[in-house]
Amino acid sequence: MNSAKIIITDKSSRSGALERTTHMAIGAHPDDIEIMAVEGIMKCYHSNDLWFTGVTLTSGGGSPRGGAYKDVTDEQMRAIRHKEQKKAAMVGEYSAQVMLDYRDYDIRDVQQKKVVRDLVMVLEKTKPGIVYTHNLADKHDTHVAASLRVIEAIRKMPQVHRPDSLFGCEVWRSLDWLPDRDKKMLDCSPKENLKAALLGVHDSQISGGKRYDLAVQGRNRANATFHETLAVDSASSLSIAMDMTPLIRGLDLDPAVWVKEKIRNFENDVFQSIKIFTSH
Ligand SMILES: [Zn+2]
Repeated sequence: MNSAKIIITDKSSRSGALERTTHMAIGAHPDDIEIMAVEGIMKCYHSNDLWFTGVTLTSGGGSPRGGAYKDVTDEQMRAIRHKEQKKAAMVGEYSAQVMLDYRDYDIRDVQQKKVVRDLVMVLEKTKPGIVYTHNLADKHDTHVAASLRVIEAIRKMPQVHRPDSLFGCEVWRSLDWLPDRDKKMLDCSPKENLKAALLGVHDSQISGGKRYDLAVQGRNRANATFHETLAVDSASSLSIAMDMTPLIRGLDLDPAVWVKEKIRNFENDVFQSIKIFTSH
């Protein structure tokens, strides 16, 4: 996108900041990264050799609004959310924050090739080892489309440059339903204060009517306690991801068929436990 911007949070050069990236999150809207990729942000925070880069696909100008933001136009909201995402990048000391500035419609449009082209360019410059994005069972259409664009972009990279792991994270829809063998648990326990600040800067969304800050904290806290039925809590905050790495290893795996198998595993788990305890 011509209006795309790259925000660098320290004195590094643009190429230096992109090239040192080890962890990357690709989110559909401003604030998605801070909801779903806290594990990566925390691993890189004040690390000597790990660097986090965020990529936000859309401007978020069309987001729902209320309170002090109720009369804000879409164009004003676009500028506000850009500023908020920049603040989050500063707070989390990201190596870089890429703002691709598309509209939701562009991400969902299967004919639109520019999004994938831009993503390939960013991924080739950064070559991250771990990528966090939306999971394929999210209930927000733009999130699902974003996840598919990320998979498509990674598949266009030569095998040797592809990330080692691709995690599909929770935003609109929890992943508690995934059978444990299909779950990747992401530890978000460290630095409650920093996590609160990372989400707190997205004031247009939170004061604007959605308590994402409390909701994410509550969900991650619940995951930490309800994950293990027979063990004491090993973490105070966990988010759950779908390990989507198999989808970027080969080109043949159909994402829809692959997710259906995860849903079947859930169906079988529920079915089997009822069968075991039903007398005949
Ligand atoms: Zn979103």
